[in-house]
Amino acid sequence: MRFLSQIFQPIITIPKGAKIKSTEITCKSQKLLLECGLVRPTSSGLFTVLPLARRAITKLENIIHSCLEEVGGQRLSLPCVTSAALWERSGRLGDIGPELVKVEDRHGKKYLLAPTHEEAIADLLADVGPLSYKQLPFILYQIGNKYRDEHRPKHGLLRAREFSMLDAYSIHSSDECATNTYSIVSEAYRKIFRSLDLPVHRVQAPTGEMGGSLSHEWQLPAAAGEDALAVCASCSHTALANQSRTCEKCGRGTDVVNSIEVGHTFVLGTRYSEPLHANFIAQNSSSVPLHMGCYGIGVTRLISASIESLSSDKSIRWPKAIAPYAAVVIGPKEGSKEWIGHGFDKVQSIARQIEQNGGRDDVIIDDRHSLTIGKRLMMADRMGYPYIIVCGRSALETPPRYELYRSAGGEAPRAPQILDIHELLATLHEQTKNKINVEYSEKCVVK
Ligand SMILES: [Zn+2]
Repeated sequence: MRFLSQIFQPIITIPKGAKIKSTEITCKSQKLLLECGLVRPTSSGLFTVLPLARRAITKLENIIHSCLEEVGGQRLSLPCVTSAALWERSGRLGDIGPELVKVEDRHGKKYLLAPTHEEAIADLLADVGPLSYKQLPFILYQIGNKYRDEHRPKHGLLRAREFSMLDAYSIHSSDECATNTYSIVSEAYRKIFRSLDLPVHRVQAPTGEMGGSLSHEWQLPAAAGEDALAVCASCSHTALANQSRTCEKCGRGTDVVNSIEVGHTFVLGTRYSEPLHANFIAQNSSSVPLHMGCYGIGVTRLISASIESLSSDKSIRWPKAIAPYAAVVIGPKEGSKEWIGHGFDKVQSIARQIEQNGGRDDVIIDDRHSLTIGKRLMMADRMGYPYIIVCGRSALETPPRYELYRSAGGEAPRAPQILDIHELLATLHEQTKNKINVEYSEKCVVK
């Protein structure tokens, strides 16, 4: 059982009416994450992720992990420090040079803190010797920190210099196979975003510096976004907004909304395998370059983008599946009639029952008893715990009843439901059922 009084959460309290002149806070997710004690900046574009935000990230990683494994992905870990020589061979050292964080070892050998790992994967495949076509296709992926020396880091975790990312790579004998796997991984992406209840759009995108033949960006509409989407009101076709404001499908006008890129996927062809000599032995015994696909999701960016998209200026709203704790239990103020009537034991017993009823390791007790219920209710709403359970006056009735508040996007807590213990447990159980369990539209597993 966890208690809020013991959580390391350096909340920033801004006095009423204070004029805030920080020019560095440029969007609401950055402000809320800082003020609610979830992240702390260390220097420009670098952040310490504090325990409650770390829990949200771990939950998101678990969803991504489970959706990738379901389509046959295999997790590995590549070093963050990667040889600059590989990037020289792929030709990207010059192309995105200024954005690379470069380091040198004591012998003068040049490295970089990888912003992505196409070269490292191609080098791994070259290093193990030519694979046989019989071993293909497969998907390798990792979730870890990446680095980009942003010219102007801004919006907190939305454009940071160190960020956590999913990067997956699919390896194939042909372009056709790569394209097939591409649609399977796209389906896994849809499942990830569906389980977060986020309206992420897949839109066709230029392949840019990454190269390859096909590419999509995965975009989440939000006011602070630096990209723009053209959404057709008639057929709901969505595209990156460019000069033309008419829908390419039906020719009608579109609405343009700001959005945040949370993922990017590519069919790469032999863009990296050729220069790095990652070959396989084909059926006719010739040695030819592998075909590759690559898939990224900005994990820390998605956390802040979802807060950006769901929250009000005053209160965080998380996708339910990744809130740091699913439920918080608030007991009476010390010394009150309720405190004397049912005390702290009752509060702990309620929390324990919720945990045993499917909320394992996902319930926290707000044991700051010197504060009133109202004050703690307000703070819980600001933190955006999806379910807030209050053991207050009605817990003195026979049978005891409890107040259940749900945090709804941007609103103050609505009037609570007053429930006895059985109703409370049943309601929470129904609501917290594993949301990842969304069926695929078709059976799709690589291999
Ligand atoms: Zn249209």
